[in-house]
Amino acid sequence: MDSYTENMENITTFGLPAQVRVFPIRTEEDIISYFRDINGDFFVLGGGSNIIASESITAKDILKIEIPGIYITRESPEEAYLFAGAGENWDNVVKWAVHKKLSGIEALSSIPGTVGATPVQNVGAYGTEIKDTLISVRAYDITQGKFVELDNMDCEFSYRWSIFKGRDKDKYIITSILLKLTKLPPKMPEYPVVKKYFDEIGIKNPTVSEIRDAIIEIRKSKLPSPDIIPNCGSFFENPIIEEDVAKKLKEKYPHMPQYDMGNSKVKIPAGFLIEESGLKGVQFDHIGTYEKNALVLINLGGAKFEDVLHAKNEIIQRVKDKFGVTLETEPEFI
Ligand code: NAP
Repeated sequence: MDSYTENMENITTFGLPAQVRVFPIRTEEDIISYFRDINGDFFVLGGGSNIIASESITAKDILKIEIPGIYITRESPEEAYLFAGAGENWDNVVKWAVHKKLSGIEALSSIPGTVGATPVQNVGAYGTEIKDTLISVRAYDITQGKFVELDNMDCEFSYRWSIFKGRDKDKYIITSILLKLTKLPPKMPEYPVVKKYFDEIGIKNPTVSEIRDAIIEIRKSKLPSPDIIPNCGSFFENPIIEEDVAKKLKEKYPHMPQYDMGNSKVKIPAGFLIEESGLKGVQFDHIGTYEKNALVLINLGGAKFEDVLHAKNEIIQRVKDKFGVTLETEPEFI
């Protein structure tokens, strides 16, 4: 089967170097061929926008998922079922759906990465999550050596979480997803930043395409383009803490944003904690926190895996010292 040598720098958005052997996976057949003919130690890569890889990745085969396809499988006057191959760029799928005036994923505009990555961490933004429209996931079950269909419930989605990230990590290779989108007018995202955007331009009931444009604009102002500044988006997860701990923090820091998650849990924006720890726009050798958004770590040039570890540990420690909250990283470390 096809393979070539590549530098991880060119296939991941954080740009850390390491020579690897890449096996492009363009069809489901390619997966079967890989396990039949090669069957080595491997790592599954999509858009490379959520991984921080050490030199040790060199020892692994990179299965680069490039399975294509965006089309409607069936539709009615109210809704449409959208198939998307795991290798498609996620934002192209959103663009395609919005162009067809289909609603359900427009708030997930501009999220980097491929389709196959979206169910793994139940990607979400501005009040929409992939679980809200996802009907099923098709995947290769490595343990059984066959393709399976998992429905929405099987994936056990929760906030930025699913079985693919939890108990079934490394069990499946996702090859496609099926979404159910609506032809009804879209819902306005209930986020102040989105509402403010539409208030300012005087639109009360935005179309699906106007919501997409708004999200792209808002994200552009907070997230650097990886083509210009290497980064992997939000570097830390928003911590979810116990209600009583959150209450004490609120007494001490009344301006701290807090969002009720139910079950006596409260979510705090990680970006707030980092910024309030004096870490916005700071540098740790080759790594920096982005000046417009402390939640984003950027590669200032020539960074190595150890530099990322150092910056990450330093930030976690400083936030813990100030707030007693331990941040967890969002990208996968290999
Ligand atoms: P933001 O809008 O500054 O919000 C920061 C935090 O506040 C997020 O945890 C967000 O919750 C929460 N929040 C804000 N308004 C809220 C409301 N009305 N109700 C409930 N929670 C509220 O976030 P950002 O960093 O610029 O990111 C923008 C959006 O993209 C956020 O929704 C964020 O979660 C999402 N995002 C997702 C991923 C991912 O899926 N891996 C990565 C990066 C960013 P939510 O997180 O629940 O939205």
